[in-house]
Amino acid sequence: MIDLTAYSGLRVAVMGLGRSGLATAKALMATGAEVWAWDDDPPRRQAAAAENIPLVDLGTCAWATSKTLVWSPGISHTLPTPHPVAVAARRAGAEVICDIELLAQAQPAATFVAITGTNGKSTTTALAAHILIASGVRAAAGGNLGPPALSLSPLGEGEIYVLELSSYQLELLATASFDMACLINISPDHLDRHGGMASYVTAKRRIFAGAGRQSEAIIATDDDHTRAIAEALGQAGGRHLTRVAVGGGPADVTVTGGILHDRGKPAMDLNGVATLPGRHNWQNAAMAYAIARRLGLSSETIAKYLATYPGLPHRQELVANIDGVRFVNDSKATNAEATARALDCYENIYWIAGGIAKAGGLGGLEPWYARIVEAYLVGAAAEPFAQALDGHVPHRNAGNLATAVAMAHARSRRDGRDGAVVLLSPACASFDQWPGFEARGNAFRQMVLALRRAPIAIEMTS
Ligand code: ADP
Repeated sequence: MIDLTAYSGLRVAVMGLGRSGLATAKALMATGAEVWAWDDDPPRRQAAAAENIPLVDLGTCAWATSKTLVWSPGISHTLPTPHPVAVAARRAGAEVICDIELLAQAQPAATFVAITGTNGKSTTTALAAHILIASGVRAAAGGNLGPPALSLSPLGEGEIYVLELSSYQLELLATASFDMACLINISPDHLDRHGGMASYVTAKRRIFAGAGRQSEAIIATDDDHTRAIAEALGQAGGRHLTRVAVGGGPADVTVTGGILHDRGKPAMDLNGVATLPGRHNWQNAAMAYAIARRLGLSSETIAKYLATYPGLPHRQELVANIDGVRFVNDSKATNAEATARALDCYENIYWIAGGIAKAGGLGGLEPWYARIVEAYLVGAAAEPFAQALDGHVPHRNAGNLATAVAMAHARSRRDGRDGAVVLLSPACASFDQWPGFEARGNAFRQMVLALRRAPIAIEMTS
């Protein structure tokens, strides 16, 4: 557990009692802080109380006595509507931060690598950490991915935190800065919470803010937003900037046709890495390569361990091959941009999509429509998605995931097409029917594995 001695004897409010909030409350209590914890959700409060975490209604408490509010990034604090707890705390002059800030304060000797982007954060973070750890570096990965920041092990001099940071975490940073700040890409996402594209880009840019550290920046310059940020950082000077590009532009690390080049020199062939399918993963691999390279690893060592990356669940995870049909769990694709990357990897796709659509819906996916044999639509987005697909892609309103899996299984089996794939890549958030993308992906995996055990029960006609 991370030692938060600086807060010993102080009263610290913790809002949100999910995984990161619970870890924060426990770390603070262990170091003698007086914790006031709260969550708007009664079952979460009960779960916290069961672990002896003191509950105080932060909507009505005396804010004058607490100068720090640790906010769970998953809870909206300003937009679409200001949260009354954040409003009251800020009005009383309390600082609203997140657990990443506490980790940075508590472990000043460690090296911090921070990774953000609209898509590819988890893959890049897990891949970079895998390469470092496999090559003998003491490193820990977490943040938005995996363990919350304050559940990570304490690290010191020469040891490395590899942190995945969301835009929500970045906008809750006060003074924390990172030795190596990495930006993968920016495309529209979470615009309701940020109030538009400009403030979403501003939140992402905050990864490069803060004084002190910030000696290295690594940016994939494949989109206009990241290119502009790289340009500005380059002009500002004062740090080493590594540019990565997979879209053909000039850069230090590039990937063309799957061959990764380091300053023009071929370093490795990514085509053979089964756990990193598709061009989008070239971008993640190139970012992880650049990170490891700037941390001092040799090109050969990086290539060796990049090839042994085990992959992450819910990101184009191959669950099973049943009678020649691959079933792929890409539940983490919660926006159209992410889904496009998956559709780009396959032909003869039986596509399961839907949930809560993001702004723009299926916009941008049109170039891949010809690859889709049939779409199975679920959740709140089923109706608008059906309208978008009308006349372009055969589709059915499956309503829920179980029906969609049964329909896709039956149809793909009946068609017997070469290389067929049943792909769950929803282009939507999951919260209308699931607690989160993991629950949705886990359910899909179980349904598919059950299909493998029990031969098909439902034959569908179309
Ligand atoms: P994040 O943590 O940013 O959500 P992940 O690494 O978990 O990203 O990948 C989520 C999904 O986003 C993947 O299933 C894939 O469809 C898509 N994706 C991954 N990397 C990229 C990338 N570099 N560019 C575009 N889409 C990507």
